[in-house]
Amino acid sequence: MIDFDAHLAPYAAHSSKSRGRRHSEPAAGSRSEFQRDRDRIIHSTAFRRLEYKTQVFLNHEGDLFRTRLTHSIEVAQIARTLARSLRLNEDLVEATALSHDLGHTPFGHVGQDVLNECMKEYGGFEHNLQSLRVVDHLEEHYGAFDGLNLTFETREGILKHCSLANARQLGDLGQRFLDKTQPSLEAQLTNLADEIAYNNHDIDDGLRSGLLTMKQMEEVDLFARLHRQVVRQYPGLPGRRELYETIRLMITAMTADLVEESCRLIKEADPRSIDDVRTAPPLIRFSASMRAETTALKRFLYANLYRHYKVNRMRVKASRIVRELFEAFMTDPVLLPFDYQVAGGDTHKQARKIADYIAGMTDRYAIREHKRIFSLDEL
Ligand code: MG
Repeated sequence: MIDFDAHLAPYAAHSSKSRGRRHSEPAAGSRSEFQRDRDRIIHSTAFRRLEYKTQVFLNHEGDLFRTRLTHSIEVAQIARTLARSLRLNEDLVEATALSHDLGHTPFGHVGQDVLNECMKEYGGFEHNLQSLRVVDHLEEHYGAFDGLNLTFETREGILKHCSLANARQLGDLGQRFLDKTQPSLEAQLTNLADEIAYNNHDIDDGLRSGLLTMKQMEEVDLFARLHRQVVRQYPGLPGRRELYETIRLMITAMTADLVEESCRLIKEADPRSIDDVRTAPPLIRFSASMRAETTALKRFLYANLYRHYKVNRMRVKASRIVRELFEAFMTDPVLLPFDYQVAGGDTHKQARKIADYIAGMTDRYAIREHKRIFSLDEL
């Protein structure tokens, strides 16, 4: 029997001490429980759909922009680096990073906001909860159960946020939101790896799209400081390399800060096990000064990129597509593929099925489906 946990800190999530799966299964032998989770995620249908779902830009706007798939891979890379530095479980952070966005709707956050409004009377829509729903119920791959039957620890990492009303429905997985306790350090870490990934890749995509300029970027202290360092070290470097060098230094600065501050907090709290971690305050954090810098960067990106008028136009169109699809399906459920039609006229169940159908759509599928339903040219 391979010891998958030998190199881990005592407060890491140990595969051999996992709280297990909802349906018990024999051990995989050659893989740790969390490696097995990761493999199931990579082979899932929802994972492949991430390639055609967007964060900020629409999937067809350019071939080089991040999609949810490349974003998830970047999160996994950063999370693994951090986990190794802190002697946490790399397999678990990888599984969580690759699955954290599985429940995202088409068109980024606007899709989820509109779907949440549409679902107001039927229990709402939260993308974290939807990611969990995908891995617990919606994937159809196994003979013995619905979903992917992942371990408690991976599912805990996926469920970053949750309303109290929903937490009450989730049993042991929702308990931490009611008790106000923390998830594993691996879950805390993946959450911040997500933030490091998008804060940096959105700068790259923003500049590539022409919606941001280098001159504007100088307003961000952290960027300006590291950019100056790059220019000093490599005078006359072509623009793209100068940018990549700067982003590289930013990711390094953020990960180094996170490791240093987290090491300090872990040492102070001295957790002896994952149970100690759960009752301690959050132990994976940026230092106060790095937190201030990342907050300033986020504010900048919000004002100058996420609310750029060209992005707004996309957002308004996307929200119309999602809302109109939802309304059309609610009014005439017979328009839905047979698998999504609920017999017996239960409106709540029908609404949830429609939310599952829409949330599963890629950007281009949603655009096409909207045309199929509404275009009178395609009768
Ligand atoms: Mg993400």
